[in-house]
Amino acid sequence: MDLDLTGRHALVCGASQGIGRACAIELALLGANVTALARRAEVLQQLVAELPRTHAKQTHDFLVADSGDTDGLRAAVEKLVAAQPVHILVNNSGGPPPGPAHGAKIEAFLDAYRKHLVANHTLAETAIPGMQAARFGRIVNIISTSVKEPIAGLGVSNTTRWAVASWAKTLAGELAPFGITVNNVLPGSTHTPRIEQIVAARAGKSGASIAAMQQTMEAEIPMRRFADPAEVAAAVAFLCSPAAAYITGINVPVDGGRTRSL
Ligand code: NAD
Repeated sequence: MDLDLTGRHALVCGASQGIGRACAIELALLGANVTALARRAEVLQQLVAELPRTHAKQTHDFLVADSGDTDGLRAAVEKLVAAQPVHILVNNSGGPPPGPAHGAKIEAFLDAYRKHLVANHTLAETAIPGMQAARFGRIVNIISTSVKEPIAGLGVSNTTRWAVASWAKTLAGELAPFGITVNNVLPGSTHTPRIEQIVAARAGKSGASIAAMQQTMEAEIPMRRFADPAEVAAAVAFLCSPAAAYITGINVPVDGGRTRSL
């Protein structure tokens, strides 16, 4: 199986921690040159120093940008692709704050759309010409299993994730003739700072301790545990590889079997 990404340039968003960070590591392990994007320069600098190098010509770098600042994001990534075309784009950002849909403020929806749908589209539009020129492109969006089954208490998130999934499916059909694939990875509960927030919010609401709430959530998963970020990143890296050239427009849950639907 051809998993070799030597000579490919991957832009990984939300790379300073959690799933994004794990994706940066996995793609580097497959030989890609990785640009890690997030807001905190010092964290990214440290990550770049630690990213694996599998061959002499492999280089990594970072880009400071905010997915909520559309114009700033576009300007930063336009500069990046002018210097080095992006062949692999991992769209990822912090999840919207928890809370029910009923009562959610309009601004919360707009903010989540800006940081996910609009940011993903801005990044993709900037990167696609370089992918077309290379006749190779991989766009992977980190979304959520809520694409298949909305999750109670994540109203704004559920709504935004569906929009991203529908955008991605449409784009997959449009870009397939150019050798560019567009897929979504849907993490289940994964050990990152994001899941800690969600467990704490649910514990606070129910009066249970954080440990008890985590146990309850783990008991609902057939694997009886949360994922390691590297397990989610492995699916992302495969979808970015040459071996996955004929896979496009799909949603891949990496959730220990939690999603009940097909
Ligand atoms: P996380 O909060 O641990 O990390 C998010 C990353 O995005 C960080 O690097 C953060 O710095 C970056 N980021 C946040 N806001 C940003 C902004 N405005 N601009 C640029 N970068 C920004 O999240 P995670 O757990 O790694 O999850 C990644 C994605 O997967 C999120 O959308 C999350 O909701 C989703 N998800 C996570 C889980 C889980 O259990 N961890 C489950 C389902 C879906």
